[in-house]
Amino acid sequence: MIIGIDAGGTLIKIAYTENGQLQFKKSPIADIEGVAKWVNGLGDCEICLTGGKSGVLRSLLTKQAKEIVEFEATHRGVQFLLSKMGRSETTYLVTNVGTGTSIHCIQNDSQERLGGTGVGGGTLVGLSHLLTGVSDYEEIVRLASKGSRERIDLKVKHIYEGKEPPISGELTASNFGNDLFSISDELTKEELLATVIGLVGETVSTVSVQAARQCDSSLVIYIGSSFIHNPLLKEVVESYTILRGSTPLFLENGEFSGAVGAMTTL
Ligand code: ADP
Repeated sequence: MIIGIDAGGTLIKIAYTENGQLQFKKSPIADIEGVAKWVNGLGDCEICLTGGKSGVLRSLLTKQAKEIVEFEATHRGVQFLLSKMGRSETTYLVTNVGTGTSIHCIQNDSQERLGGTGVGGGTLVGLSHLLTGVSDYEEIVRLASKGSRERIDLKVKHIYEGKEPPISGELTASNFGNDLFSISDELTKEELLATVIGLVGETVSTVSVQAARQCDSSLVIYIGSSFIHNPLLKEVVESYTILRGSTPLFLENGEFSGAVGAMTTL
């Protein structure tokens, strides 16, 4: 058995082969001891670790494990999963929306980190909790999918009343920028959560599209667990990326890129 483990800020992602089949598994970082116990209980296996918490995991393992830098692991994993989807692109941008967001340019088989933003999946959960009291990720994304951002966000067209705006009126002029003081007591959890997801989605896609220009590619590949069961985030990111002139692609099992990349070094 070969196992790649990406121990991130929020979740531990695991990719392994069983009877020649690629399998995936994930656990909250709070259960790092449980993951170590699972690995320690396995028979003969080769292990490669990556991610910010790989050192902590390594200290809990009774088996030998290799280690690989997270950005390199993600790059290898994206290449692997992309070819599994039957795609053959070699130049593209990768935006990893994990706890935070990291942006990479892939050209000629090598990756360069272009930057990122602290707005990511951690922001999604943290702001959602502060605004609504909801803390369960699945509950946040479920409620958000029923909400409207109409009353909370300010669009360009709202500012350019009765006048043709110089840019698309559908663009958000200000996230949470509408006149909220008189309606703050009426806003529902669904509306607030949808608007948090809008803020995260528009921020990561705007930064990505700008970075894509430095990478000579209009293809932006989005990965990271923030897209799990989160059709609203996908929708915001997809439409904003297209509106800003790039082509989005959501990699299948993309949240396991780091784990898969680590596994492929074995
Ligand atoms: P990291 O490698 O930093 O842990 P991930 O790519 O795993 O990053 O993404 C973490 C984000 O995924 C969280 O901040 C949250 O928005 C989202 N997420 C998806 N599923 C869950 C879950 N079951 N529990 C907590 N967060 C989740």
